[in-house]
Amino acid sequence: MPEVSLVLRSTRVVTPEGIRPAAVAVAGERIAAVLPYGAELPRGAGVEDVGDHAVLPGLVDTHVHVNDPGRAEWEGFPTATRAAAAGGVTTLVDMPLNSLPPTTTVPHLRVKQDAARGRVHVDVGFWGGALPDNTGDLRALHEAGVFGFKCFLSPSGVPEFPELDREGLTASLTEIAGFGGLLIAHAEDAAALAGAPHRAGPAYADFLASRPRDAENDAVRTLVDAARRTGGRVHVLHLSSSDALPLLARARAGGLRVSAETCPHFLTLTAEEVPDGATEFKCCPPIRERANQDALWQALADGTVGCVVSDHSPCTADLKTPDFATAWGGISSLQLGLPAVWTEARRRGHGLDDVARWMSTAPAELAGLGTKGAVAAGRDADFAVVAPDEAFTVDPAHLHHRNRVTAYAGRTLYGVVKATWLRGRRIAGAGSTGQPTGRLLERNH
Ligand SMILES: [Zn+2]
Repeated sequence: MPEVSLVLRSTRVVTPEGIRPAAVAVAGERIAAVLPYGAELPRGAGVEDVGDHAVLPGLVDTHVHVNDPGRAEWEGFPTATRAAAAGGVTTLVDMPLNSLPPTTTVPHLRVKQDAARGRVHVDVGFWGGALPDNTGDLRALHEAGVFGFKCFLSPSGVPEFPELDREGLTASLTEIAGFGGLLIAHAEDAAALAGAPHRAGPAYADFLASRPRDAENDAVRTLVDAARRTGGRVHVLHLSSSDALPLLARARAGGLRVSAETCPHFLTLTAEEVPDGATEFKCCPPIRERANQDALWQALADGTVGCVVSDHSPCTADLKTPDFATAWGGISSLQLGLPAVWTEARRRGHGLDDVARWMSTAPAELAGLGTKGAVAAGRDADFAVVAPDEAFTVDPAHLHHRNRVTAYAGRTLYGVVKATWLRGRRIAGAGSTGQPTGRLLERNH
């Protein structure tokens, strides 16, 4: 065993083999071994015994909009990554849009990396973007280390990031399949959205009617078809419509490389409870009805949906006008995803091992982050130390993201993050230095 510098001990360590008492031996930045709780400890190692607090693998959030540079007043690297660390997230992958420039060429990627370098509290990687006019840039971006390519099938909300039509989708996915890459897609169909009723105002029911399930279902069908025709690998982002689940299940059973994620807000908030004018609950696709939520939980349980990631997408508070038609869409939850999901998961009889699989292991696998996503020998020593039975009430004043607007304000959640460790160093909780020790990640590095 390499020289062990730290031993983290708990009666509830969440390992790939289940939850058990263990002593996690850390050598430098990596986990050297997961030992029995009572094992004789290596001489000279610092011992951190967290008792009955659970030790989870650091969360991997592959869906975060940092917006820096260009719209850093919405969210920036220091604030987003501090919120991540406070929420038990040790790795995030930044979405290619809402920053200026968007991450759609190699020079643009370099601008983003320069904005992040030395300013991040967790490890950060980057998605690229697939636009109608940048197919020729995708391979170079892939080789420069982006983790895959995001596209839209309907307007993205920002003019510099146009959506793909059917031909554009085929062209992009054919190119991406040619180098073994991954396409991640915002699945709402432009024609279905255009045909939906649009009534402005503060009523949530009107907003919900303007983003119908069929828009998602049609887009998922389009993506499954594109995966079949091109052989490309496709991941459906932020799935809300449970009607699309059978399509996804059939595609996977048929051997297509199609995966899906959902988000804490779809799993914990319902359309029935959104107050009129409360546009902190606005996101696209939207939060749907309670019965829809039950079906999403079932899809997590049966594996049709593998990942739960935040889609943290903030803006300045003034853009959250009380009119659902014009307010910026996006829910800020980077710091709260773990307790939000855990609160509902425990009520539904799931364990912390399920939560770790959905929020750490599966997203790490999606992005090919081989050293992340598990408390196991050889992995990075990234941990979230959590008091699972301790509750707190969400106070926006305690959030670290730049604009402290959140749909979770006032909610009581279980699961207090006591400390977060990144590659063997404490980055949140008592004893953390507050220094930005995160690293910029590239695919396969
Ligand atoms: Zn998003």
